[in-house]
Amino acid sequence: MTQIIRTSAELRDRVAAWKRSGMLVGVVPTMGALHDGHMSLVREARKQSDRVIVTIFVNPMQFNNASDLDKYPRDEAHDLAMLEAEGVDVLFAPGVDEVYPDGFATKVSVSGISEPLEGAFRPGHFDGVATVVSKLFGMTQAGRAFFGEKDWQQLQVVRRLVEDLNIPIRIIGCPTIRETDGLAMSSRNVRLSEAERAQAPALHRIMTAAAEQIRAGAPIGSALEQAKSEILAAGFHDIEYLEVRSVEGLRPMETFSEPGRMLVAAYLGDVRLIDNIAV
Ligand code: AMP
Repeated sequence: MTQIIRTSAELRDRVAAWKRSGMLVGVVPTMGALHDGHMSLVREARKQSDRVIVTIFVNPMQFNNASDLDKYPRDEAHDLAMLEAEGVDVLFAPGVDEVYPDGFATKVSVSGISEPLEGAFRPGHFDGVATVVSKLFGMTQAGRAFFGEKDWQQLQVVRRLVEDLNIPIRIIGCPTIRETDGLAMSSRNVRLSEAERAQAPALHRIMTAAAEQIRAGAPIGSALEQAKSEILAAGFHDIEYLEVRSVEGLRPMETFSEPGRMLVAAYLGDVRLIDNIAV
């Protein structure tokens, strides 16, 4: 049975009891509308910890767009059934007032790594992420936390903040889970129309081809230019960024001289999709 907990006080008691008996607690932070990508993190958490907490909190502080927050899919009953099936111990699903009570005044802001890419196009987003993740680590007191590479930059931001603030938790990054046609699983995919859903896999296909060209020696700049025009031709619009960055520190990379990551954000209809792959 997965127990639903809504207050940090109750969660703290539960976790304290586990820790007294020497158990290692793993946490998987999510915003719900769970899919197989989330479940892969849950399974990894199951393997690497004695007790697993999944958190579901659609964090208003990390949304820079009110309609994106409004339209964010929510289905707690369905999520709970999926967590039950994986033997998750606790679903921590606090309300907004529990996380941000009256008087709340602190912001965690990671500079540098959170500034380009998502940070440039979603002002304040990573402050919201860093703040809520810090709070969830404090509330769950977990020893391990599992994050998806789907949100590559977020994973780097979380690693940075844990190191900078000496938070005693180990961050585990998990590979991106894709549909069979290559589309990265995302809670936002349910908002794609049938026609858009059919166009969506082009993003990963085109990126994969560009990464192959770069590995084979093509200049990064021209490979990305070609990929951008192909992405637009495939039905996307407003490519916010398509870049290759260093794995270490997310520095811009003009020549292929070290392990890189190709990252993209683009719109299909009114749905903003992000993805990234190794180069
Ligand atoms: P979200 O609910 O979108 O905030 O995601 C919660 C966690 O699940 C984050 O660590 C994401 O990176 C991760 N995640 C989301 N989609 C995927 C996916 N397709 N594969 C692996 N992890 C994912």
